[in-house]
Amino acid sequence: MIRAGIVVTGTEVLTGRISDKNGPWISEQLAGRGVEVAHIVIVGDRPEDLDAALRFMAAEKMDLIVTSGGLGPTADDLTAEVVARFADRPLQLDEEMLEKIAEILRGFAKRFRLDQAAVLEANRKQAMVPEGATALDPEGTAPGLVVPAGERVVIVLPGPPRELRPMWTAALAAEPVCEVLARATPLRAYTMRMFGVPESEIAKSLREIEADGVDLAAVEITTCLRRGEIEIDVRYRDEATSVADKVREGLVERHRRETFSLDSETIDQQVAVLLQGHKLGLAESCSGGLLAARITDLSGASAYMAGSVVAYANEAKAELLGVDPALIEAKGAVSPEVAEAMAIGALERFGADVAVSVTGVAGPDGGTEEKPVGYICFNARLADGTVIARDPAIPGKRADIRERSALIGMHLLRNLLSGAEPPL
Ligand code: ATP
Ligand code: MG
Repeated sequence: MIRAGIVVTGTEVLTGRISDKNGPWISEQLAGRGVEVAHIVIVGDRPEDLDAALRFMAAEKMDLIVTSGGLGPTADDLTAEVVARFADRPLQLDEEMLEKIAEILRGFAKRFRLDQAAVLEANRKQAMVPEGATALDPEGTAPGLVVPAGERVVIVLPGPPRELRPMWTAALAAEPVCEVLARATPLRAYTMRMFGVPESEIAKSLREIEADGVDLAAVEITTCLRRGEIEIDVRYRDEATSVADKVREGLVERHRRETFSLDSETIDQQVAVLLQGHKLGLAESCSGGLLAARITDLSGASAYMAGSVVAYANEAKAELLGVDPALIEAKGAVSPEVAEAMAIGALERFGADVAVSVTGVAGPDGGTEEKPVGYICFNARLADGTVIARDPAIPGKRADIRERSALIGMHLLRNLLSGAEPPL
């Protein structure tokens, strides 16, 4: 098993002023190549802290160490120096790299009218490469490094994500890195998505699957609640394929209605496919257009999206969607009956053949005993009269309730168009 550690440097990241975009990204890249990332450590711009992090990684026997940040021309950019010392390889001026950087800087200096000599002097530092290391061509002005350090290899990359990401490819091509990666067995993986099932139920199902004799230790399963849906990631090596298949079968068998994706496709992508050849009209109250926002988030939405009416006030429901004011008076603006009238209104007003309506109590005020905060009425219907109507109580705060309303709208739309049984 090849193990890696990531050291993210930067006081801004450490203090929380900016959030780390490099650690998780590198981690995903490595996982995809079958490397187990054991640690991500964040340190500030202090050489002794960076050095301590590198020593920790060495003590923990990481085969690969990746650092991000601290390669700039300024005094607080010390990564190359610290890594050189760690690897016991003195820094040397790389003439070729100096010329490359000079070339890049001549462009800058001209554009910003800077003093060329001063700029070049400050950047001489960036052309210092540890003896025997491979320098990676800069995306900005800072070259990256691949530094063999005893039994380990250190990849040194700049902090700005738009520089780090393209340079990653070059780092992988460097020979010492190739050698390490060649020893890693790539993992296979699949992602399942479910809606309308609590995480605890998944844990229970996994225990049952294990009790049926499936060796779960052979696969790595991560269950994550993401924006109201359950995402189950299963990673495994070739030889554990049959275990991974059994896990998927076992979960689908137990949660058939709630499983909507077996191949990491999102609900938004599925709905976009299902809507092809249709014309959609929306009528939204408490979700305030969030459903329309999701539908139009994907390019190509104009092929099926006719429009949405955000009818917040009762008058708007009446005037823009043709809801009978007497119905609102009799049943209340939040009621299955008004939701139905809104959806019918959306079908008519947009000349659509599919419509979804949402009306509910988003809170924090306005709840009653009969219709508490989180009580939301949905009506999803086709022009031929096929309908799915639901009025669940959604837990959470205003923002959660609104976001969840849009999500439920997406799922009801999927169920309506695909004929699958809705999970709620
Ligand atoms: P530069 O030449 O720009 O100074 P550098 O390699 O020295 O590059 P840093 O000084 O550590 O990198 O960071 C420069 C900028 O890059 C930061 O101000 C920040 O905006 C961005 N950055 C650095 N590290 C991260 C990170 N882990 N996640 C997101 N952004 C980062
Ligand atoms: Mg810097």
